[in-house]
Amino acid sequence: MPDRKSTRRTVVIGNWKMHQTGAGGAALAAAIVAGLRPGRAEIAVAPPFTALTAVADAIRGSSIALAGQDVFHEPEGAFTGAVSAPMLAAAGCSLVLVGHSERRHVFGDDDEDVRRKARSVLDAGMRPVVCVGETLEQRDAGQAENVVREQLEATVHGLSDAELAPLAVAYEPVWAIGTGRTATPDTAEAMHRVIRASLASLAGSGTAERTPILYGGSVKGDNAAAILSGANVDGLLVGGASLRADSFLDICHAAG
Ligand code: PEP
Repeated sequence: MPDRKSTRRTVVIGNWKMHQTGAGGAALAAAIVAGLRPGRAEIAVAPPFTALTAVADAIRGSSIALAGQDVFHEPEGAFTGAVSAPMLAAAGCSLVLVGHSERRHVFGDDDEDVRRKARSVLDAGMRPVVCVGETLEQRDAGQAENVVREQLEATVHGLSDAELAPLAVAYEPVWAIGTGRTATPDTAEAMHRVIRASLASLAGSGTAERTPILYGGSVKGDNAAAILSGANVDGLLVGGASLRADSFLDICHAAG
């Protein structure tokens, strides 16, 4: 596959997980807005649902985008505690994470949930960031590539190249999330190549060449540039290091 990295915009997303109230989130977002130097990368933050509106206000007029951390696939109805894709769009989100490993492993989201969630995000006109990744046991058993391929296939199955135009994928090895143990640039690039080849066979070369594939797992300011140097690494999904403006800005600036 030809290297089309230069045609894909780098994407950096800060996943705040279950951190920050509205007031704290607005302050963090304002500090990111104030410190962000103009660059080519697309930068987004994913606050908890209760902070979305305050953060949307804080980033208004800036180049920073708003992302949801999760979604329920139905548009509305008797689903206590759930938040739908149209609600996230109305709150100002243009991206939504689906299938984050904490959703899969703590809350029990399976591949079918992830597929429905991704579809609801597409239907609401936003970009789903589909998270895939293997556990340490699966990697040690030599199953990493198959696990990731299957997660991807289950998600994009039945969607056309045109429907998948807004898709982004995040490769997040479970053993690297919040552990301080980062995949080496070579390990990340090898799996990103597998993901791009899988997208080509599942959805066509157009989808494969256009889809940004982000890496996530203990990314910091001092390893971001090396990970991003991979020909198939188009961005970063950042957890812990996105909770402070200075460390998140270091990563954003490393992304150019
Ligand atoms: C994440 O939550 O998606 C993540 C990658 O977390 P961390 O950067 O803390 O490993």
